[in-house]
Formats: sequence, C-alpha cells, structure tokens
Amino acid sequence: MANVQIVEVGPRDGLQNESVLFTTSQKLEFLGRVIDAGARRVEAASFVNPKLVPQMADAEAVAAGLPRRAGVTFIGLVLNKRGALRALEAGMDELGAVCAASDGFALRNQGMTSDASLAMCCEVVRLARGQAHPAQITISTAFGCPFDGEVDPSRVVEMARLAAASGPVEIAIADTIGVASPGEVSALVERVAAAIRPLPVRVHFHNTRNTGLANVWAALHAGAQIVDASLGGIGGCPFAPRATGNVPTEDVAYMLERSGYRTGLDLDSLIASARWLAGVMGRDVPGMLSRAGVFPKQSAGPAIA
Ligand code: ZN
Repeated sequence: MANVQIVEVGPRDGLQNESVLFTTSQKLEFLGRVIDAGARRVEAASFVNPKLVPQMADAEAVAAGLPRRAGVTFIGLVLNKRGALRALEAGMDELGAVCAASDGFALRNQGMTSDASLAMCCEVVRLARGQAHPAQITISTAFGCPFDGEVDPSRVVEMARLAAASGPVEIAIADTIGVASPGEVSALVERVAAAIRPLPVRVHFHNTRNTGLANVWAALHAGAQIVDASLGGIGGCPFAPRATGNVPTEDVAYMLERSGYRTGLDLDSLIASARWLAGVMGRDVPGMLSRAGVFPKQSAGPAIA
C-alpha cells in the first residue's frame, strides 16, 4: 500500500485568494484543525508584500502563534529573497520558493522574468540551506499561463532540472490557473520526475475546470509522490474571477484512501473542519465530501440526514 503525502495549502493558497479576511486567531485555529486531522506539512503563510496581498499581512503574527507539534513542518511561501529573509526570521521551518514557467506571469506576479524567478528560487534554497532549513521550489504556470497561453513542457522540464541543482527537498509543478488535463499531467510529471530523480515531484492543482482529482490521480501514476490540497477546496485565482480553488483535501484523501493509498489523514476530522471553514466563510466550500459524507458511513455522516 503506497503512502501519499498531502501538503495542506489552505491556510496560504486557499485564504490568499479568498475575499473573506480571516483573523490571525481564525488562521491559527485552521492550522490546528488540519494538524489534528493528520497533516504533517502545512503551508502556513506567504511572506509577500502586504499591500499586494492583504490576506497575508499578518504572516509574522501567524508564525509567532503556530500550533507546534512534534513532526509537523510549517512552510513559508516566498516570491523573492526579501520574503525568504522574513520567513526565516519569523521562524518558519521550511521555505517554499516560487518561480513561473512563463514571462507573462512571472512579470506580473513577481516583477521579474521567468529566468530571473528561477535564479531567485535557487538563491532562496541556498540561503535556507545555509541556515540549516529545508526549501523547495514550485514552478507555477507549468501547464498554461493566463497571459502567455500555452507553456512549452520542455521549458518546465529544463527549469526543474536547473532548480534541482540548487539542492531543494522537492520540485513542484503547479497548474496555477487550473487548465491541465490528465494526459498532459502524466506526460509532464514523467518527464520532470526523470529529470530530477531522486528528488521527489510534488504537484499543485486547481480545480478550475473540474479536472483536479483526475489530475492528482494521473500525477501519482506518473511518479509524483506529494500532492498539495486545500481543506474545502477553498481559494481561487486572482486572474480567473469565478475559478474554484485548489483540489479539496478531504476529497483527495477520500479518493486515495478508498483506492488503497495511505494519506495519514482522518476523513471525519477533515469533514468537520471543512464544515467549520464553511461556517467561518459564510458559504459552502467547493469540496464535496463534507456535503455527501464518507462511505461506508462513519460518525460524521452526511450533512443532511
Ligand atoms: Zn495555487
């Protein structure tokens, strides 16, 4: 039975793209809940310009209040060296550096070219390692760019190969705007995995076009070992106004557990927390397991009896 590690990104990618502003204490409750449900790697905050991303303006306060447990790693997302220094200073365990495969996205999201964003990521990894912290690199817009359109898969493979040389703990390929199909995912994950072996591949999917779970499945069968997901499937994309968020943690965990994978996550806890999240946000979350309930029926049961 294979293990799959799910990285919980709801407290960062989920909240960052939501219009509802969570208080610091609500964020800390969110973090505590996903850890109680079994999450062992959690993206807790991004250290970015608070003028551009007001949802993450309290990153230092979140870092100071992290619900520390043995074996739990908190990741701080960064888009430049300045953010990396902030995240390390704030005491984050691991840095997640982001580059983009397309110039259009890199320039708008990070104010630098794709090449410069990759160089920055490698510098961030070396900086973290110099302070004995692990770091990883995510290649965003790996399947398509909202500004430049199609992205050449060979460009992503080459970036992954160069990124791997800096010594990260893993490389992620991200479908930032949720355009990927399972066939494309299989092909790209296989190529990236071969290019960076023995480093593991992590995947990051948005369910914008309802291909998210199929893409997770395709990625795992093509050699990915780690999957990003956000509780409730919250989030979105600032460049796709009606888009849904990341693949929902509880739906991914249900699919994988029923298929014989081990995720280390407790479905009942995830469901309870997805409903808590819906309550805080004042609307349904996109994830479906918290509405339908697990099968076979366990204690949480369906939302409507
Ligand atoms: Zn994302």
